[in-house]
Amino acid sequence: MVVVLEKNIKEKQLENVIKHLEEFGFAVHKSTGVEQIVLGAIGVKPDFDIRRVKVLEGVAEVYRITEPFKLASRSFKKEDTRIKIGDVEIGGNAVAIMAGPCSVESEKQIFTIAEIVAKAGAKILRGGAYKPRTSPYSFQGLGENGLKLLRQAGDAFGLLVITEVMESSQIDLIEKYTDIFQVGARNMQNFSLLRDLGKASKPIMLKRGLSATIDDLLMSAEYILSNGNQNVMLCERGIRTFETYTRNTFDISAIPVVHKRSHLPVIADPSHATGLRDKVIPMARAAVAAGADGIMVEVHHDPDSALSDGPQALLPDQFEDLMKQVRAIAEVIGRSIV
Ligand code: PEP
Ligand code: MN
Repeated sequence: MVVVLEKNIKEKQLENVIKHLEEFGFAVHKSTGVEQIVLGAIGVKPDFDIRRVKVLEGVAEVYRITEPFKLASRSFKKEDTRIKIGDVEIGGNAVAIMAGPCSVESEKQIFTIAEIVAKAGAKILRGGAYKPRTSPYSFQGLGENGLKLLRQAGDAFGLLVITEVMESSQIDLIEKYTDIFQVGARNMQNFSLLRDLGKASKPIMLKRGLSATIDDLLMSAEYILSNGNQNVMLCERGIRTFETYTRNTFDISAIPVVHKRSHLPVIADPSHATGLRDKVIPMARAAVAAGADGIMVEVHHDPDSALSDGPQALLPDQFEDLMKQVRAIAEVIGRSIV
């Protein structure tokens, strides 16, 4: 249930409405919008008479939310969520570019790529230190050493960093090094991890699962939001279909669909979506044209020797081209690039 409060509601009235909602058995989440405060009352009560709330002083409107997700929905929060990290804002007018290798492999590798990423004008460095690999025999990541190298490389070139967390036991350690937690596609429905990330203080980028619907993705975001962390962005990274030419099928329409249903920023990852280096730039252009709030791409100076995902990594020149091209597309739709 959503409770929209009157624009000039008094503090006492607000407290009273919250107190009543809690007494009725709801968990209350407050969202302070530009125009007015909205309360999300969570807790399934099919036969609750909403007039009991409508009559309270300071209440402008009450309505039930029909979506299964509440805090992630546009009906709960009309304004786009903007996530500020240092001087980068994700979800505002500018499209954020996150780039870097699939995995952190060595000091030389991550520093070389960080320099390329920074020179091309991106602000966020990606790199996995804990890797979810299909085979247990493949490279699993450098662990804490990888986190340290990623942080050092980011700091050396003035970049924020994003890295994947695979299990709850890694949260405290990763939080010491990263600016953004990435939840990988394979963990989108690791509900205990999502719950625990709800208590973390850093923003989360939640990737869409390989065979997850858009509602599944939003329900997973709800796990994080309902546990306290409101800085959540979603990532479309391609889904499994019967098509085998590309690694996955890039669901570009998910971008405007999510934007209509949710206030959370949407990042697009054309690298994992296509799995093919020469398809990444056209799909990045398409994603920005479709309204993506950010692009995540893999970049490697020597992709033939990469320990993971070499075939989809852009070469340095290609990454520069991508930056130019997505900047041009962004301008056409009245946006810019960070
Ligand atoms: C990654 O970003 O390197 C990754 C493993 O992505 P996904 O979870 O989308 O497969
Ligand atoms: Mn990868």
